[in-house]
Amino acid sequence: MSTLVSNIGELVSESDNLPARAQRYAFSFDHGVITWIGPEDQAPQCDDIIDAHGGAVLPGFVDSHAHLIFAGDRSADFAARMSGDSYSAGGIASTVTATRAASDAELRSNAQRLVGQMHSQGITTLEIKSGYGLTVSDEQRALRIAREFTSETTFLGAHVVPAEFKSDPDAYVDLVCGDMLTACAPFSRWIDVFCDRGAFTPEQSARVLLAGKAAGLKVRLHANQLESLGGIEVAAACGAISVDHLTFMSDMELAVMAENNIVATLLPGVEFSTRSPYPDARRFLEAGISVAIATDCNPGSSFITSMPFCIALAVREMHMSVDEAVRAATAGGAQALDRHDVGRIEPGMSADFLILDRPSIDYLAYSPGTSPVQRVFRGGQLLRSSHE
Ligand SMILES: [Zn+2]
Repeated sequence: MSTLVSNIGELVSESDNLPARAQRYAFSFDHGVITWIGPEDQAPQCDDIIDAHGGAVLPGFVDSHAHLIFAGDRSADFAARMSGDSYSAGGIASTVTATRAASDAELRSNAQRLVGQMHSQGITTLEIKSGYGLTVSDEQRALRIAREFTSETTFLGAHVVPAEFKSDPDAYVDLVCGDMLTACAPFSRWIDVFCDRGAFTPEQSARVLLAGKAAGLKVRLHANQLESLGGIEVAAACGAISVDHLTFMSDMELAVMAENNIVATLLPGVEFSTRSPYPDARRFLEAGISVAIATDCNPGSSFITSMPFCIALAVREMHMSVDEAVRAATAGGAQALDRHDVGRIEPGMSADFLILDRPSIDYLAYSPGTSPVQRVFRGGQLLRSSHE
């Protein structure tokens, strides 16, 4: 059955062949796939019509970085940080203890709640990482549960060194590259490492990424959140699709990312939640690097499921225009996940789109704290609606 989406305030397709904000445009889809886009007065006859009531329409958000399989509560860490404590990678240990102790049902229902929030905020494609189990069985369990929610699953056994391996981190890296990878690869599309102070060295990171790659996984990396240790060179050498965080970056590292066509995934919720300096997105854009923004939803450093809030932060604090931030949250996220079927509204793409209750996408950044996302469609099906 064909459906026409019409009466659109402005259509932001992220297609390279159309105006950034097309006026009086419409599009159609059939069997969940977009079939036509063009001026509304040339629209084909369709079986059904979705009336956008003058609201802006844009692609569904693609959140390429989230840690949703965990148990426990870190709200007190946040409050302590806001009272003056500094953030370090070590706080992850308390989440690991709680996650290991939790039942499958607890982990599943916590993830379900967060995924539901993401859907309501317009996220139609999302990535989920492991990384709070840090044993062979707990990491595999996390990925098995993550797979119930998304095909974009990432094995992050190298998130931090667990307490029982503190005296011999390399033995833990051996485990990650060996039995843990073997157990987790069947449930994963990606391999990832936290390469930073207090986590893994560039040498250890390279070992894990190359082992993952040899097991058929695609490569992404957490780097340069706390300092610049050499993770960018490792990412380039291992063929990473995306490097995420990038709070601290030298001009040389920017050049390496541009040369190697690596997507820069910026996570403004982390700077917000850890009261850290925001990276200047203009440096990445001017270096010719594709930028994605993602929530990094996790209990420690960014307990945020709202992509509109991240867009507002990217605009206000990282100096992106609204158009650039929306592109980073849609087409940019798709590029960071190496996905060619989502993130744009154009023929052949999945019919994943958002109808706002405001006439322009500016409201995503202009009116933070109230989401203008009114209707969320994925594969042509209504996923969420705040319509009365
Ligand atoms: Zn992360």
